Amino acid sequence: MRYFSTRDSARLTPKTFSDILLAGLADDGGLFLPESYPRVTLAELAQWRQLSYAELAAQVLGKFAPDIAQHDIAKLCAQTYTADNYSHIRKGQDASQIAPLQWLGEESGTRLGLLCLSHGPTLAFKDMAMQLLGKLFEYTLAARNQTINILGATSGDTGSAAEYAMRGKRGIRVFMLSPRGKMSAFQTAQMFSLQDPNIFNIAVDGVFDQCQDMVKAVSGDAQFKSRYQIGTVNSINWARIVAQVVYYFKGYFAATTDNAQKVSFAVPTGNFGNVCAGHIARMMGLPIAQLVVATNENDVLDEFFRRGVYRARSAAQTMQTSSPSMDIAKASNLERFIADLFLRDGARVTDLFAQLAQQSAFDISSTPEFARMKEYGFVSGHSTHAQRLATVRDIAKRYHWVIDPHTADGLSVARAYLQPGIPMIVLETALPAKFSLMVQEALGVEPECPANYRNVEQLPQRFTPMAADVDAVKQFLATHITQ
Ligand SMILES: *Cc1c(COP(=O)(O)O)cnc(C)c1O
Repeated sequence: MRYFSTRDSARLTPKTFSDILLAGLADDGGLFLPESYPRVTLAELAQWRQLSYAELAAQVLGKFAPDIAQHDIAKLCAQTYTADNYSHIRKGQDASQIAPLQWLGEESGTRLGLLCLSHGPTLAFKDMAMQLLGKLFEYTLAARNQTINILGATSGDTGSAAEYAMRGKRGIRVFMLSPRGKMSAFQTAQMFSLQDPNIFNIAVDGVFDQCQDMVKAVSGDAQFKSRYQIGTVNSINWARIVAQVVYYFKGYFAATTDNAQKVSFAVPTGNFGNVCAGHIARMMGLPIAQLVVATNENDVLDEFFRRGVYRARSAAQTMQTSSPSMDIAKASNLERFIADLFLRDGARVTDLFAQLAQQSAFDISSTPEFARMKEYGFVSGHSTHAQRLATVRDIAKRYHWVIDPHTADGLSVARAYLQPGIPMIVLETALPAKFSLMVQEALGVEPECPANYRNVEQLPQRFTPMAADVDAVKQFLATHITQ
């Protein structure tokens, strides 16, 4: 399987999975995609239905990483997807299950459920992929006798997931940019309380998109990038997307009894990483009816899927909301779907993203591709703070289940797209404990917090404040990376 940049029309620079595992953005500014998606046969689907989560992950990853020995993949997956590692299980759930499906009830003639992805070390779905990435990095670096310096940007959950996956790992340093004062108190404490010498938290005066732009600027400097062995773990990282494909299969199997049935998924969305994995699962042949793209007030993607106009917002236009991990106004991974929509025409993709760079927008509403977009199953919607509050309350009252504000975005939008007979699975992207203020506002009580996190906000914090300035971050990297 060969990987190419979404902007590489001539297909001159094929890469392997291991190459792009450590690479992040392509040199031409595009994102990596496999030449074509592997198809899963009905026989394979039937077989996969019987597998444990770790075995399923090994099957999916194996299709995308033929350059890594299958028994090594199986070993890494078995070490990652253990009950110990995903132990923040909730009352009444089976502790041996990774990513359990929690049925809520019946609405509009169909079953509504949550796919619980937040039982990992940092209580958000990002652990599902990041824990595997930590293992893959360690494995590949050892094989190649290399080190890596991970530069990332986080709106709250990626950073902690990456840091908990990489802390103490040999040959790996993590430099994580976050928007200062814009994460929840819990998220901030979870990251900044880490004292591991290979972890560097940098608090940027700005919003998430500025942090992400700084990462892109550093990664775009090919010389700097190779001199300091800069890698990334942002959701543009292909291996993360692949690891996320796995739980769509798991959710599908849990919701159905045979492979003739269809299922819809609703996904709280910011950077289009999670729902992009759903798109890929669907392209592989998983019978997905709808992929519901749910945003908050930062509704760039809702606008795109409704109108065919992609209008990235500026930092000043990015709203700070009660689902902060989705306060993203430039969805980095959308380029992967655009590449598929335009049938991997790298020149068209380059053109559109050049327009985006110049005018902060592109418009495909009058193209035949936009007319065909429905075939990919995407529908979209957004929610407001009031709607999220109402949803948290309603779900607690009706089903005795407490959800976080991001999952509330997903549920709120999902309810507009229920189809009789087609189960709707909402991806639960964080535990409510991570966003206790909002949950308290909705329910009047604090959500339950796992024992090992009860005092996290009281622990000493370690971070470096910084202006939103590319040279400042380069300087910091240069000083702290010693070969
Ligand atoms: C990151 C995150 C999202 C958004 O996921 P994307 O892959 O960026 O679309 C949603 N909810 C939570 C809790 C998150 O941490």
